[in-house]
Amino acid sequence: MLTGKTALITGGAKGIGRAIALKMADENANVAIVYRGSEQSALDTQKEILAKGVHCAIYKCDVADFTATKALVTQVVKDFGSFQILVNNAGIKADKLLIAMKEEDFDTVIATNLKGAFNMTKHAGTLFLKQRQGRIINISSVSGLMGNIGQCNYAAAKAGLIGFTKSTAKEMALRQVTCNAIAPGFIDTDMTKKLQPEIKEEIIKLIPLKRLGQAEDIANLCVYLSSELAGYITGEVIKVDGGLYI
Ligand code: NDP
Repeated sequence: MLTGKTALITGGAKGIGRAIALKMADENANVAIVYRGSEQSALDTQKEILAKGVHCAIYKCDVADFTATKALVTQVVKDFGSFQILVNNAGIKADKLLIAMKEEDFDTVIATNLKGAFNMTKHAGTLFLKQRQGRIINISSVSGLMGNIGQCNYAAAKAGLIGFTKSTAKEMALRQVTCNAIAPGFIDTDMTKKLQPEIKEEIIKLIPLKRLGQAEDIANLCVYLSSELAGYITGEVIKVDGGLYI
């Protein structure tokens, strides 16, 4: 489905990003994986992808760093010739009740989850507009739609990402570049493994499908949004949450 395409996935070494990277490779796309600290996971994922017979390279970069993301995009273009798919998946959380939240907890989450997407999209978007081709997928969250206790920083970043997605979609549509957001519910990754078992049980009670999602549930939609089948979809926010927020 994605033969001849290259996808750049931030946070592609682990969790949801890793599943997206593997699924893109299954569909014959070449893959550029961006990681920040998890070098071994990045190398393992790269090995798995290369075994599928597509090209894959890994890049260490902090998406919150504007200058570093510019250099990253230049390097990926040098290595792959170009790329057509950008998945802004890198994200962190620093959950605390608002009254206990430190300024740093707010700033770092906004810097990675929201400004990181701006940095990547600005540099990649310039390329996409020039080549009149591109798919941008932002991994938001249902927290950005419904809010969540202990996540005023994270929910603000993820809600901001939705406004960012819609504005980018409008700005880039004339050149056939699409931009969509995926809003996952609770997905079984390192991010949710940190939840206490009793809290996880309470969450599952709230989900109509009565289970956490898998990273592959997000990856499937990502591949679809990157494909020719989704060429007329832009500015959308699609929930993948087992019905949590209906
Ligand atoms: P993980 O913690 O497993 O993975 C997060 C990834 O983001 C890691 O690969 C990490 O790389 C990367 N990352 C974090 N900060 C930076 C940075 N500054 N620069 C570059 N890369 C960075 O989380 P998930 O896979 O669960 O989450 C992926 C995305 O999905 C996030 O945006 C998250 O907010 C979102 N999401 C997740 C949900 C869930 O239930 N799991 C629900 C809703 C949304 P490294 O380890 O190398 O630092």
